Amino acid sequence: MDIITDIKAMQDRCFAERAAGRTIAFVPTMGFLHEGHLSLLREGRRRGDLLVLSIFVNPAQFGQGEDLDRYPRDFARDEQLARACGVDLIFYPAADAIYPDDYATFVNVVGPLTTTLEGASRPGHFRGVATVVAKLLIIVQPQVALFGRKDFQQLAVVRRMTTDLNLPVEIVGMPIVRETDGLAMSSRNVYLSDAERQQALSLSQALARGRHLAAEGVCAVGEVLAALRAMIEAQPAARIDYLRICHRSSFLEQERIDVDSVLLLAVTVGKTRLIDNGSLLDEAEAC
Ligand code: AMP
Repeated sequence: MDIITDIKAMQDRCFAERAAGRTIAFVPTMGFLHEGHLSLLREGRRRGDLLVLSIFVNPAQFGQGEDLDRYPRDFARDEQLARACGVDLIFYPAADAIYPDDYATFVNVVGPLTTTLEGASRPGHFRGVATVVAKLLIIVQPQVALFGRKDFQQLAVVRRMTTDLNLPVEIVGMPIVRETDGLAMSSRNVYLSDAERQQALSLSQALARGRHLAAEGVCAVGEVLAALRAMIEAQPAARIDYLRICHRSSFLEQERIDVDSVLLLAVTVGKTRLIDNGSLLDEAEAC
């Protein structure tokens, strides 16, 4: 496994790999790897001849007062996990290489996709995400790039951006990996105290309850959201940022739950902001 920090060296290497006929599968991350990231790497290993992992805590996607400075990092551990997953190449650039002092170019996906939900709560976040993902795709030149549905809106933004910019890459979305008790895996879960960790279960429990209600035929969005809101607000350390039921591709809010409905939620537990999402109805259960 090779580790490359230099952008030009990375671009040259990836160009040469493609020229030699190899398929590049790429998994971009901010590091501090967990099973969610590893599931992407395992699928990438299956899909590519060369498996590339990037580790870059992207300053452009963090807002003022967010956790950029304390975002967890452990490169030595990430390196071991990457090796065990069969990663061929880790791209590990410095922030000032990606964004030098005179940096001036940003990719902005416009419309409800980036102004609602995470976009409304974290202004500029998706501009930072779209910019870094576009740059990474140009540097790594993969045929396939893998992203988690844990960041459901991010995945939609990345798909929109690659389609609109005609980037020749297949974007693959992968299922959310959860702890055995249901908590969606996240690098940020390490911030949680034991008591907060317990209360953080209210996110996945709300999802499960929403699915249960929809399966029982309770499909009025207002009624379902009121029940879920009460569940989460019963946790003293939990503060709801948003809790919405939206159409999976337009991201517009719905009044009735159908097979295209996705429940999306962001909840701050203590000082840790957590997100989760999931669909509410299978085809067979439609209200
Ligand atoms: P991050 O390091 O948080 O930027 O995440 C890197 C990639 O891993 C993104 O595509 C995430 O959606 C994905 N990811 C993070 N957590 C999970 C999870 N629990 N299950 C599946 N994918 C995940």
